[in-house]
Amino acid sequence: MRSERSESVVPGAAEPADATDPALETVRPGQPTPGRLGRVGPGADEGLADPGSVGRRQRHELWMRRALEVAVTGPDSGPAEDGDAVVEDVPVGAVVYGPDGAELAIGRNERELTGDPTAHAEVLALRRAAERLGRWRLEGCTLVVTLEPCTMCAGAISLARISTVVFGAWEPKTGAVGSLWDVLRDRRLTHRPEVYGGVLEPESAALLRAFFR
Ligand SMILES: [Zn+2]
Repeated sequence: MRSERSESVVPGAAEPADATDPALETVRPGQPTPGRLGRVGPGADEGLADPGSVGRRQRHELWMRRALEVAVTGPDSGPAEDGDAVVEDVPVGAVVYGPDGAELAIGRNERELTGDPTAHAEVLALRRAAERLGRWRLEGCTLVVTLEPCTMCAGAISLARISTVVFGAWEPKTGAVGSLWDVLRDRRLTHRPEVYGGVLEPESAALLRAFFR
């Protein structure tokens, strides 16, 4: 079933909160996701997502440290032309892990480097993970990113059938995974990943603050 309220997902539109299920409006930054209860579809029975809260938290933090490293170290899609003015990209890093916990692909924000408005860390990591697996369906996989995904990336995550999303800093201005919208847990969608936000938030936020200082 499709909603007719497509105008509510346009930035600046009135009452953006209408884009999400009212039940999800109780989810506030810093709170754990209620995602598991409502989780259905591919990957729902995949055991890795919930080996117990302590083990899970430790693994998420370990993975987030890797994403933070990726945010500042690359990889690059290609070097800028010699002589070009260097505009540094906002440091955002993403890593896709397979169902067995193995690292599949990494990506960092390369919008300035490549001049590509869609070159966000998550999109690049998803593309590389799909290339590596030879398929677009990334069921059972976990995407870890240092900043709450935007609407584009949340859409890509959903389309890729990612099972679990772990992110670091909340992004109140553009975040689409609980802040401004909650695209991934919109109950009108059949595929809804499990979401863990605010993992290593101080470190993730500090990286961005240092960049904008
Ligand atoms: Zn994005």
